Amino acid sequence: MTSKPEPGSTIDTVLAAARRHTEDVIKPNVDKWIKERKWPRKASDKAAALGLTGLYCPTELGGQGLSLGDGIRVYEELGKGDGAYAFALSMHNICSFAVCGFATDAFKKKWAKDLIAGKKLANFALTEPQSGSDAATMYSRARIKDGTWTISGSKAWVSLAGEADVYLTVVKTSDTPGHKDMAMVAIPKGAKGLSFGPLYDTASYNFLPMGEMYMENVQVPEENIILPPGKGLSGALMAIDIARVSIASGCCGLMQAALDVALAYTGNRKMFGKTALDLDGIQWMLGEVATELEASRLLYRAAANALGTQEGPLLAAHAKRFVPDCAVKAANTCTQVMGGMGLLSSYGLDRLSRLSQMLRIVDGTTEISRVVIGRALKKRAEELPRVPVPKGPYKRSTRPACLPATSPSMSSTRP
Ligand SMILES: Cc1cc2nc3c(=O)[nH]c(=O)nc-3n(C[C@H](O)[C@H](O)[C@H](O)COP(=O)(O)OP(=O)(O)OC[C@H]3O[C@@H](n4cnc5c(N)ncnc54)[C@H](O)[C@@H]3O)c2cc1C
Repeated sequence: MTSKPEPGSTIDTVLAAARRHTEDVIKPNVDKWIKERKWPRKASDKAAALGLTGLYCPTELGGQGLSLGDGIRVYEELGKGDGAYAFALSMHNICSFAVCGFATDAFKKKWAKDLIAGKKLANFALTEPQSGSDAATMYSRARIKDGTWTISGSKAWVSLAGEADVYLTVVKTSDTPGHKDMAMVAIPKGAKGLSFGPLYDTASYNFLPMGEMYMENVQVPEENIILPPGKGLSGALMAIDIARVSIASGCCGLMQAALDVALAYTGNRKMFGKTALDLDGIQWMLGEVATELEASRLLYRAAANALGTQEGPLLAAHAKRFVPDCAVKAANTCTQVMGGMGLLSSYGLDRLSRLSQMLRIVDGTTEISRVVIGRALKKRAEELPRVPVPKGPYKRSTRPACLPATSPSMSSTRP
């Protein structure tokens, strides 16, 4: 049994613990978890015992006190074992971070230590059945009276549904359309009126329970407010930025795992009097995966270090746009170089392909990252001096305004 790094340990010590957890607990068991279709709570308890459930929380409360820039690297290690498991722990860590940073003193007193110690698990509930990417359109509604919040509505795609002990839930607090009244409130699993729908049936990460969450006049006290009205959506988006970079980190682990299987196989597979890996074509295919893995690592680490700064959201979008796409390509390429054997579940590449596609969607799709990047490009364009563009409508006798008077191409070919 690996021992817990002391609170305040260096990132290298924490990464070494995560690596051992991946080798000893995730890799040998992930296929069994998928068959059992049940969250491996004993495994997450072991992760908790290693300090992996309070990465960014203060050491006084038992957390590791890591910066986001350092702590996010843990998911690269866990992602070598399984990306969905890494994702669930990353969401829990973001929730613990939010509780330590923003919850009321009363709530912190009741929950913070148990969340950090992993005795209790947490997750976010933002997505609704009618709205995912368009998160500002929300129907879950809290009515506030005499310090009690009464919440009704439904959420969708809630990870750790029914398994987590508390759900940091984004709700509207008025009937006014838009997001300005949104708040984030903690709803404990046992709250009266809280229930869950049947779990979604997914291809290869069925051990991560996901489903709809229903709130029917759920009552929670004011002390459960994590973010007050007006701060709910912006806070959720900040959390999502951290989640996006964490996913990119997990994807790097996935890419490394895929590459290692492909290298181990092709280095041993004989064909045309040599090994498959001796063939230039195979080396080039795997070389591309290796380059994209290096680029992905640099990008997510830069994005992780930028979290909390003005550049954070844009770099998070770049990482979430680029890295999961590379992971999809890596999983498919590594399958391809193994021929038919790459398709067998015992090699794990089929699982990695499905996981990588899932990681392109969760916490803001690739397209939504493109929207964020596109907005930044437009802003940048507005700051640049204008350059001449052709003026229409075109007339044969008129020289396009963007060309200098002496343009050889125009003077030689046009009257
Ligand atoms: C495994 C998993 C776990 C999840 N866990 C949680 C969780 O714990 N808590 C939670 O709140 N949510 C969770 N989600 C929800 C997730 O964040 C949403 O699935 C995601 O935001 C996309 O929303 P949607 O599925 O409703 O797709 P939609 O919003 O319906 O989008 C459909 C398609 O339209 C595209 N699209 C949307 N807008 C644009 C645009 N402007 N331009 C071009 N294309 C566009 C999207 O990219 C997508 O391809 C989870 C999802 C998955 C898959």
